[in-house]
Amino acid sequence: MTFENLPLIPRLKRNVAEAGYETPTPIQRETIPLVLRGCDVLGCAQTGTGKTAAFALPILQQLQARPDSGVRPIRCLILTPTRELALQIWENFNLYGKGLSPRAAVIFGGVSQTPQVEALQRGADIVVACPGRLWDLMNQGFVSLDAIEIFVLDEADRMLDMGFIHDVRRIVARLPEKRQTLMFSATMPAEVEKLAMDLLHNPETVKVDPVSSPVEAIEQKLFYVDKANKKHLLAYLLRRPGVENCLVFSRTKHGADRIARDLKREDIDAAAIHGDKTQSARQAALNRFRAGECKVLVATDIAARGLDIEGLSHVINYDQP
Ligand code: AMP
Repeated sequence: MTFENLPLIPRLKRNVAEAGYETPTPIQRETIPLVLRGCDVLGCAQTGTGKTAAFALPILQQLQARPDSGVRPIRCLILTPTRELALQIWENFNLYGKGLSPRAAVIFGGVSQTPQVEALQRGADIVVACPGRLWDLMNQGFVSLDAIEIFVLDEADRMLDMGFIHDVRRIVARLPEKRQTLMFSATMPAEVEKLAMDLLHNPETVKVDPVSSPVEAIEQKLFYVDKANKKHLLAYLLRRPGVENCLVFSRTKHGADRIARDLKREDIDAAAIHGDKTQSARQAALNRFRAGECKVLVATDIAARGLDIEGLSHVINYDQP
């Protein structure tokens, strides 16, 4: 099956082709027709399976087909737990939506709200948001959700883990009853199922496996080492041939900073990202790493979840995951 077989408009097909996609992933094959038919969907899928395009493509098509009344209210809301994911989803909407009329804006905390408010005031059909800042802007009167036609709750399980459930429920209470709802979650614990029952109306369920199991695609190694020698082993491993770039996971924010500092002392270029860094510092570090200007990115699991980095040669779990 190719994208040609999916009921997408020519411009979307062209945009995915330009993005280099040839065949739709399983979640895209199943989800796109359902969303186009107006169904509620519960998607059990992890990041990396192509789930962003699975909802973004049909949403763009639906909004394109139903022109707004000219005042540009927000017609689609996507809630996602982290700023990095919000940015990534927003970038994908821009990429897939090239040449189409719907416009997207992104909202997250940790940065000035002014540019975000200005983007909303210019008019955005699609808003990708983290719950905390969105709630804040709603209470300041900058955001109205009265015209929402499609609501997407992304990474629902992580939303619960990170303690955003209260914000999510408060936001959902402001959405119109009549709407299409899509919900995605990597895992389905009881609490997520309960949320799904509350949010979704006769949903179709789509379940896909992770892209490939790690044992097939990735060579894994375990090193036993004294705590005092961990940093030396890390530096040694990073200098070995074949290590083009490496994402190092640390359990704590403090640990991430310390690892990056120790590596710099060893003349290995490293940057750290975690929740205590400003958004611009996080994005700058990520951009440097993606561009290959910096060999090592040290991150906490939360900060790095769902990051999409092409051509990563190594991942090291510095602490036991
Ligand atoms: P996601 O799970 O949405 O974060 O997507 C993971 C990665 O897969 C991103 O880099 C996408 O650009 C890429 N991707 C999504 N759909 C396809 C496709 N059909 N073919 C190739 N790559 C894709």
